[in-house]
Amino acid sequence: MLSAEHSENGAARNAAGAGGSVSPPGETRDPDGRPYDGRPYDPRRYGPASPWAREVRRLAAEQDAVILAHNYQEPAIQDIADHVGDSLALSRIAAASTAQVIVFCGVHFMAETAKILAPDRTVLIPDARAGCSLADQIDAEQLRAWKAEHPGAVVVSYVNTTAEVKAESDLCCTSSNAVEVVESIPADVEVLFGPDMFLGAHVRRRTGRTNLHVWLGECHVHAGISAKALTAATDAVPEADLFIHPECGCTSSAIHRAEEGAVAPERVKVLSTGQMLEAARTGRAPTVLVATEIGMLHQLRKVAPGTDFRPVNPGAACQYMKMITPEALVRCLREGKDEVEVPGPIARRARRAVERMVAIGTPADGE
Ligand code: SF4
Repeated sequence: MLSAEHSENGAARNAAGAGGSVSPPGETRDPDGRPYDGRPYDPRRYGPASPWAREVRRLAAEQDAVILAHNYQEPAIQDIADHVGDSLALSRIAAASTAQVIVFCGVHFMAETAKILAPDRTVLIPDARAGCSLADQIDAEQLRAWKAEHPGAVVVSYVNTTAEVKAESDLCCTSSNAVEVVESIPADVEVLFGPDMFLGAHVRRRTGRTNLHVWLGECHVHAGISAKALTAATDAVPEADLFIHPECGCTSSAIHRAEEGAVAPERVKVLSTGQMLEAARTGRAPTVLVATEIGMLHQLRKVAPGTDFRPVNPGAACQYMKMITPEALVRCLREGKDEVEVPGPIARRARRAVERMVAIGTPADGE
């Protein structure tokens, strides 16, 4: 649980300043206007042999573009991409790539991070309106005010933040190395951790640290994977393994249920998306319940086709991620937009925090 101090502190500020550059879009829909349920879009229109796929490949070759897709993208986008992964792994690929143009099929903060690490390349996102409800929970001004209340504290920001917030941070972290990043800070130094309160609670639980102040932000998709949904899913298949992303609202309840004996503790695995893929490759469980955005199921099923992966909440689709439609990708390649820019001074300060993240632990993956 978060302490009252942290709750009051963050809640008041969030109430005053929540909401960012992008309003959450409505229900997620596929290209035919139907509610999105995680299944691939029509393969005749968007499969690897479709005219759409041929056109994307032709344009990418013409533009000397590398296409990167986040694990939460729609399957057709994942399958056409040169690389699929989490935000940090993709940023590192972007930095190492020799392509002149980087097309980032993900949300805006991810494309910004790629630009921070590859400032000499053109970075495009097929729809710049693809924001992130979590990144929108704190801005640079709010972070500066929080820092002023805790002089001397070290600021650790999750990678799901804007470039301006990263520039105000000492270190960034991913869900896979958040514990190690916090453990790298001397025990007697205060830590400001944001903006995800579930990841913050996970870090506090694992480190036992009482001087870790947590910003009360959340991702609306992961927060929607509730304890109730988890209970229903585990009751239906009690022998299944559980893969839980630490941003999920159900993380604490999963650990609680394991402690109560409702789910065997060894079946509960709190994992980043990259760690989920590794666990899928090496795991033996016939059924795995997955608590994260449903786009992740596509990669899990590809690496372990013999396992029955089921979403804890089939409605956990990120509307922002699905703004990157097949048509938007073609438009992006044809028109060279939307281009992502990060002003030089901000990029330089943000790069320092991102590079410190890369140097600690096993940050092979992010969200
Ligand atoms: S799933 Fe949540 S954290 Fe990830 S991009 Fe969507 S809103 Fe942001």
